[in-house]
Order: sequence, then structure tokens, then C-alpha cells
Amino acid sequence: MAQAQAFEKKQMRTPIESGCPDGMQFMHPLMVKNFGNWKYHDRPRPGVLHHVAYSGDEIWTVRVGTQRQLGPYEINLLCDIVDKYGEGHVRFTIRSNLEVMVSKWEKVGPLIQAFNDAGYPVGGTGNSVTMISHTQGWLHCDIPGTDASGVVKSLMDELYEEFIKEEMPNRVHITTSCCQINCGGQGDIAINVQHTKPPKINHDLVANVCERPSVVARCPVAAIRPAIVNGKPSLEVDEKKCICCGACYPPCPPMQINDPEHSKLAIWVGGKNSNARSKPMFQKLVAAGLPNNPPRWPEVAAVVKKILYTYKKDARDWERVGDWVERIGWPRFFELTGLPFTKFHIDNWRGARNSLNASAHIRF
Ligand code: SF4
Ligand code: SF4
Repeated sequence: MAQAQAFEKKQMRTPIESGCPDGMQFMHPLMVKNFGNWKYHDRPRPGVLHHVAYSGDEIWTVRVGTQRQLGPYEINLLCDIVDKYGEGHVRFTIRSNLEVMVSKWEKVGPLIQAFNDAGYPVGGTGNSVTMISHTQGWLHCDIPGTDASGVVKSLMDELYEEFIKEEMPNRVHITTSCCQINCGGQGDIAINVQHTKPPKINHDLVANVCERPSVVARCPVAAIRPAIVNGKPSLEVDEKKCICCGACYPPCPPMQINDPEHSKLAIWVGGKNSNARSKPMFQKLVAAGLPNNPPRWPEVAAVVKKILYTYKKDARDWERVGDWVERIGWPRFFELTGLPFTKFHIDNWRGARNSLNASAHIRF
């Protein structure tokens, strides 16, 4: 309560050129009033959170799945529902769920019905497959090898039932990433672009477009050298060294690495960011060379569903995907899922043990 009063007296911070505006001004008034003073919360049904404050105030939050890329029609539709059945306050989660807050339990049922009637599912809480997170894809970024949001939409259509129910052993976070090097995250199951051939260089453009020393410096395995080609300054790649990471393509687009045939999708499992129950884990490669096959990516969906339903059947309560694999062991994981195991799955790099701080657990 004291914090809420302090907030009311405090002025909003001055807008700055970059960064998002202060979120407090958009919050539901009950949330501002009880900020920092919540007594407990529970989930009366999948997709609904219920928070109770020390003051006795209660608030219900309805979580709605969206198709990720929203146009004016969808935004108007969703806002009309929120104005009619909610209380005019919404927020987006980091996984692009829409959350609508209401101060009365009686409003929850009609709100859910209105979203369902408009084709929007309510769920994504607790032990569900929550909304799949994706990187920006063709919509915003200049280097993607696939449309990460398209992979997400087609997969969420396949996993609809797992979004609206809470029937997994623990929550499942699925992520996608449309290049191999930048903004993808760790996930219980991750779908990441995988280039399989070195970049093709357009030597006529390199001198005009690229700063050659910075491109040379970008390569993690020192495979790029300056070269003169057809009398013009350019670059060359030692293809025996190149690991096809794609790091040279963003600073030098004439080093084109995206390829309709050779840019594939790979699936990784067992990553998690949270410190709950076990320390954070890096995901591991389990399937590679899957076709990058828009608009529905059926081969990727088949492998993801195989892993997900094996986990659902075999894991113990509260085991995340990575915990489950640690318990049964990788050989058993490949046996149960039926995925082929090859020598390329063996990760024998040990540098991270000394150099990366992978956990917030206290160690001595
Ligand atoms: S993952 Fe790579 S390609 Fe995709 S949005 Fe991020 S930087 Fe761009
Ligand atoms: S793709 Fe990666 S490894 Fe290959 S040349 Fe470019 S930066 Fe180097």
C-alpha cells in the first residue's frame, strides 16, 4: 500500500528517445493501487490468473493466444472485445499473449466466450504449451533465413489443444529463431535455422557495400581473407574452415548465405532460463537438416510433436523437458522419440565449463 501511494505522488518519468514508455500509466487501476502488495495468486481454470491483494481486492487476468502478427482488423476486433466485456485494460506478454484484467469473476466467462467466438483461444498458463516465442523474421529483420513467425503460427495450430489445457508434466516453452547467431533464446524445444553451405560471394558488390576488415573480424573461425577478384578488392572464404554460421552476412550482404535449398531447420531440446528446481540449461541439437518448407513446415511440426508427446507420456510430474532428458539419458531419449542419432549430435566442446557463468546459483 505504501508503495502504491508513493507511486501516485511520483511523477511519470520523462519520455526518452529510445525505450518503451512507463508501463504504470497503462495498468488496471486495481493493479496500480495494490502494486507490490499481493497476498497470493492461483489459477481457477486454464488461461485465467486470479490475484488477491492484502487490501482484499481481487483481480482476474484472462490470457489469450494471438496469431502474432496483428493487423488493424485484428487489433480493432480484440480491442472491441476488451471494451465490451473487459474493463479497457490489456497488456501483451513477452510471448505475445494478450492479457485482459477484470475486477469481477462474473466478467470472466463472457469475456472468454467472446474471444472464443472470435476464434481466439484462452490458455497458455501453468503446465501448458504456452505461446511459442519467435524472432522477428521477414517482417522486421534484414538477415532471416526463414519466417520465424510463420513457423510459430503453423505449429500453434497443431498444438492448439495443448495451449488451452494444462496437461503437460510442467510448462513447455518452445522458441524459434530465423538465423543461427543472433536473437534466438533457450527453449524446452527450439526450432532454429541451420545453414549448411558457405556464403556465395557477389564480388562485384563487396568493395561498394562492405567494410572488409570488420567482415574479416566477424568470422569466429578466421575463414575470411581479403582478396582481389577480377581486379576489384573483395573477400574469399576458406570453405574447409567455414562452419556456415552466417555471421559474415549481416555486415556484408553480398556474402549471401540464405539459400532456398541449403538453409534448413534444426531442432534443439532441453534449454531453460529459469533457476527453479534445477539450474539453467543449454539446449542440445536433436534433429538437423529439416526442410525449410513454408507455409506450414509439416516436417518440423512432425518432429516437434513426436518430442512433445514422448515427453508428455514419459516425464514425471514437474520435470521440464531438460530435467526429463537428464534423468533418462540421451540414448534413451533417442530410443523413445525414434529420432536418428548421428556423430554430429556429439558436443565435445568443454570451454563453457570455465568461461560461462550459466547459473545464478551460489557456488564456492
Ligand atoms: S534471429 Fe537473426 S534473422 Fe531472426 S530476427 Fe533475430 S537477428 Fe534477425
Ligand atoms: S559463414 Fe561464419 S564461418 Fe563461414 S565465413 Fe561467414 S562468418 Fe566465417
